[in-house]
Amino acid sequence: MSDITLKDKSWLESEQLQLVLRILGRDGEEARVNGGAVRNAILGEPISDVDLSSTLLPEAAQARLEAEGIKVVPTGIEHGTITAIVDGRHFEITTLREDIETTGRHAVVKFGRDWERDALRRDLTMNALYCDGEGNIFDPLGGHEDLIARRVVFIGEAEERIREDYLRILRFFRFFAWYGSMRPDAAGLKACARLKQEISQLSVERVWSELKKLLAAPDPARALLWMRTAGVLTVVLPESEKWGIDLVPGLLRMEKELKWENDPLLRLISILPKLGEKVADLTKRLRLSGKEGERLVAWVNCPLPNAETSKNEFDKLLYSGDAIAMQDTLKMELARIATYEDSGLAGPIKKLLVRAIDWQRPEFPIKGRDLIAAGAEAGPELGKELSRLEAIWVDSDFMLDKVALLKA
Ligand code: ATP
Ligand code: MG
Repeated sequence: MSDITLKDKSWLESEQLQLVLRILGRDGEEARVNGGAVRNAILGEPISDVDLSSTLLPEAAQARLEAEGIKVVPTGIEHGTITAIVDGRHFEITTLREDIETTGRHAVVKFGRDWERDALRRDLTMNALYCDGEGNIFDPLGGHEDLIARRVVFIGEAEERIREDYLRILRFFRFFAWYGSMRPDAAGLKACARLKQEISQLSVERVWSELKKLLAAPDPARALLWMRTAGVLTVVLPESEKWGIDLVPGLLRMEKELKWENDPLLRLISILPKLGEKVADLTKRLRLSGKEGERLVAWVNCPLPNAETSKNEFDKLLYSGDAIAMQDTLKMELARIATYEDSGLAGPIKKLLVRAIDWQRPEFPIKGRDLIAAGAEAGPELGKELSRLEAIWVDSDFMLDKVALLKA
């Protein structure tokens, strides 16, 4: 154990986490926190999920926890991972292991009790840090120093480590986006560039999930630039190749100025050409979720209003289209202005964006039964009449009420 201390320990003192650590650590066994929680606690950054390592075999860990009334899901038991759920909080627990055979996509694992060997099978030095329930840090590979210096480096020989699991190429850039400074580690970058084509061996779900985490970083601009330089971006996102990533810094400036949330999809949009065919290819290739794919398509189909677009025309666009797609379109326009033009020109677009964000879809006040009550006959003509009245209503800027419309 070293004398490194955590900047923030409140997360570690949580009752649920302490309970799990205590149960797993009984009778000569050991359990420690690893991964993102330790990394972020050292840096004083917010902690989301807490991953644990344990000397117990997965089945034994499961039995112990269940005996104490804790719900356990065997989420990846063949690789030694189970998930404990305490009061709705999830803890992923992985048995100490070595990877004895790797294919670039999967590993055959052997469970063990040696913390240093467990550290050695991990990807980056900053990801090989552990802490016990009292906050003592265990740092067998010097990851702490690299983390503080914001050096994202592979454990051992970069090329060899990437050949074990090609996802590590994307993880290298993801962790660089979140924690790196200056230039990426030269040996790591070179190895990523050399082995980039092998990314195609990975399941697309792993690729998209990793890419999304990269795009969600507070500032992914430099990581994207280095990915492009290394040719990695073209392998995962060929759509971005001719289009480029010029808009990303402008988008990030606007995000800050207007306090938009980090939105990985919006960052993705900023590096895609607004072309239906390209977006369809990407959605299919990376198997985006239905919701993600729909958002991209709606963005492609959304026209860009300009300074001459009247309030009524703009509301019509919102009514006939999709308010999120309009927001995406306007945000991209603001990114474009911030990148290539004078930001003094952004005023009208900013106003439209506020309107699109605040916009609530008005409800057409007339139903078919209102027309029938007024003497119309049910049938196809009724639908036509409803559409005609809806158009009049939209043209009135949604002002005409039921009585006025029935008169029309
Ligand atoms: P976060 O959860 O914030 O995304 P994390 O570091 O906790 O980051 P996880 O994917 O939860 O990342 O994995 C936990 C730990 O498992 C990592 O810190 C790393 O040590 C190890 N790990 C995960 N994926 C790999 C991989 N593909 N190759 C090697 N080690 C890995
Ligand atoms: Mg994690």
